[in-house]
Amino acid sequence: MEIKAIRGFNDILPEEIGMWQFVERTAREVFEGFGFSEIRIPVLERTELFARGIGEATDIVEKEMYSFLDRSGHSLTLRPEATASMARAYLEHQLHAFDPVAKLYSIGPMFRYERPQKGRYRQFHQIDAEVFGVGNPMVDAEVILMLLHFLKKVGIGRLELQINSLGCRACRPRYREELKTFLMKRSFQLCEDCQRRLETNPLRIFDCKVETCQETIADAPKVTDFLCEECILHFNKVKEYLEMAGLDYILNPKMVRGLDYYTRTAFEVVSYQLGSQNAVTGGGRYDNLFQEIGGLDIPGIGFAIGMERLIALLSKDKKFIPHPSLFIAALNGEAQREAYRLANQLHLEGIRAELDYEGKSLKSQMRKADKLKARFVLILGEEELKKGRPILRNMEDKSQEEIPMENLLGILKDKILRD
Ligand SMILES: [Zn+2]
Ligand SMILES: [Zn+2]
Repeated sequence: MEIKAIRGFNDILPEEIGMWQFVERTAREVFEGFGFSEIRIPVLERTELFARGIGEATDIVEKEMYSFLDRSGHSLTLRPEATASMARAYLEHQLHAFDPVAKLYSIGPMFRYERPQKGRYRQFHQIDAEVFGVGNPMVDAEVILMLLHFLKKVGIGRLELQINSLGCRACRPRYREELKTFLMKRSFQLCEDCQRRLETNPLRIFDCKVETCQETIADAPKVTDFLCEECILHFNKVKEYLEMAGLDYILNPKMVRGLDYYTRTAFEVVSYQLGSQNAVTGGGRYDNLFQEIGGLDIPGIGFAIGMERLIALLSKDKKFIPHPSLFIAALNGEAQREAYRLANQLHLEGIRAELDYEGKSLKSQMRKADKLKARFVLILGEEELKKGRPILRNMEDKSQEEIPMENLLGILKDKILRD
């Protein structure tokens, strides 16, 4: 029987990869311009890291993690997100020893055991950017500016920035209690999941997609009405810095984010590019995460972009399929040796050149060149070789010219690299 890929695990094919490489390249350029450095973290970590870092009472930890016991009986988990691992690496390698501020990004696959559906995979990819070690609201605005700049650069239009503040350890518990009391009185309107969330993590009810839950929570108290003085000050500063950067925003007090470790600034970016509203990405501040996993009191802020979703939003007319610049159609043994030598030289010059390996007729080689959408074809038949003048055919305008054998490489390079 033919072996197929696991459900929810996707191949990214050569015809799609150009878009992925473009997005990754743009992320690297933009982020490094903002002073970020790449970090690569393992895909496998101890389960405890995510249980403590993400929070036990989250969907991710409760039912979506790929966890298993290894041969030594350790519980390991394929990373469902990158932030906890990046924070672990920061502590483990004492990246704070020289300078507490670390601006890091990482690109790679994440794993969640979700029901596979269109655009949602069990192995999916994220671009993560995090700043550790700064509580200053200036950084909140800087990270948001970088995110929006990146999205514009990859070509996502009609963006809307939504922001909220989730409070801190000092003020959120009071809000949580208030919210719980409010929802307790209406618990009969909540779905089964939310009835459970009422006990474990009532803030998560905001994220529930069930209509009755949405209706119930619509009139709930707002987190921003419960902020302590410091949180209000922080939030006001964030808004001020966003305005200084020329960014418009919308206050969305219902955006609370699913993860336990978020504090203060939370943000989401939506795009109206495809008509309807599409959540592109989100992130926020998490000043409690480090204490959850390591005991140090280090603030952090960042965001994660789902690459599959981002790529689905990108214009399909962006062409990233690489076509050969030149196809060398050669006929007999001697011409084929010449074609082989020439192709190697072009490859060493970084020019994408193709030739036929199967000894096909000149006609069928021309058909192949056409199919590959080669820009030029060099015809090296018996006649051309004898005369020492191969024919260069421009496949776009169908013009042809003879090229002297002596300076073949130079002329080809000149023509191919000219436009
Ligand atoms: Zn507070
Ligand atoms: Zn619900």
